[in-house]
Amino acid sequence: MPPRHELDLARRGQGFPPSSRSGRIVGLRTAPGNFRLSPAEKFVAGIDLGGTAVNYTFLDERGQFLIEGLCEHPARSVEGPTVCLGQIADGLAHAASRAGVSLTALTAVGLDTPGPASATGILSRRGSTNFVHPEWAGFDIRAGLEQRLGLPVTYLNDGNAAALWGHVSIFGSENQATSVSAIIGTGLGGGVITSGRVVTGRNGFGGELGHVLIPYQTIPGIEGLVPRCNCGRTGDLESLCSLTAIRQTLLPHFLSQHDGHPLASEADIATAAKRVRGLAEQGDEMCRDIFRVQARALGLFFDEMINVFDPDALIVGGGAIEADEDFRTWFIQEIRAGMPNQRDEQAELPIRVIPGGDSAGARGAALDAARLVRERGL
Ligand SMILES: [Zn+2]
Repeated sequence: MPPRHELDLARRGQGFPPSSRSGRIVGLRTAPGNFRLSPAEKFVAGIDLGGTAVNYTFLDERGQFLIEGLCEHPARSVEGPTVCLGQIADGLAHAASRAGVSLTALTAVGLDTPGPASATGILSRRGSTNFVHPEWAGFDIRAGLEQRLGLPVTYLNDGNAAALWGHVSIFGSENQATSVSAIIGTGLGGGVITSGRVVTGRNGFGGELGHVLIPYQTIPGIEGLVPRCNCGRTGDLESLCSLTAIRQTLLPHFLSQHDGHPLASEADIATAAKRVRGLAEQGDEMCRDIFRVQARALGLFFDEMINVFDPDALIVGGGAIEADEDFRTWFIQEIRAGMPNQRDEQAELPIRVIPGGDSAGARGAALDAARLVRERGL
């Protein structure tokens, strides 16, 4: 029995292949009885530019993704815009040939990258971790790719793109629903979708959920802890709910109370931090406590969002919850346990997990390109 969101999508004629990290191309277009090939068929591409890899997907006019899991090409962002955009274009051609899509059948491309960038894809003048080459400062990456490909290109930051995919995987692409997504990775990204549209904000910082302050002092088990975020705030969501939070704050705090824990003998705290999820999944008590703190922090944050947006769903994604079903179920229960009591009308608000793992960004980017095609009648 597939998860409910897949059934919902199938009912809307927007079924998508089950999630996988294998990178296998699904031969949907040639599957007998699935749908007939049409020479007039149009596609949009989704391109997720990450730190080390570019990930691609294609979406057809029926809302069906042609690539299951990851379809990756090495990223060359460190070499600057010219090399990187050329590399993205080369990878697009490779990915298209793997998926059986002609580049001439593409009507638009959606791009997502890590920020900070403006809502239209102008990268920060001050540079960023993922765009260290000096020529990236103030570079319009959306327009640059548009020029390179000769196709309309849309832009979202990576958190907003993953949030859009999470939203559409639940509600379908034709919807007026509202959702708030938190993506737990190295940092805490995410996005807010209201009436089916991504809130990017005036400067592109809409959905920077990681830097929203939460009343962390109410979380049990971290009494006396002062969680500092790299942004300068103390006690925002990212300061407790991210891999960085585990490395900088939570793991040192908990290890100080657990002499002899296996992670105490790990020479490098960053390596130890990456092992916390796996150990938590196996039932290690201290590592479970660390994830409980993260879930409770999310519960407090989601409670704030419920009062701001009265959303149709809360959504969680990212590496932290790419775990077995039991762990995810436990984690979501802990999120709920971290929330103050809700009004009767909001008590049953669903908390869902974004399917598709690392392909979420590319899928969201493709959905944004599909929106442009609809709006412009391309
Ligand atoms: Zn912060």
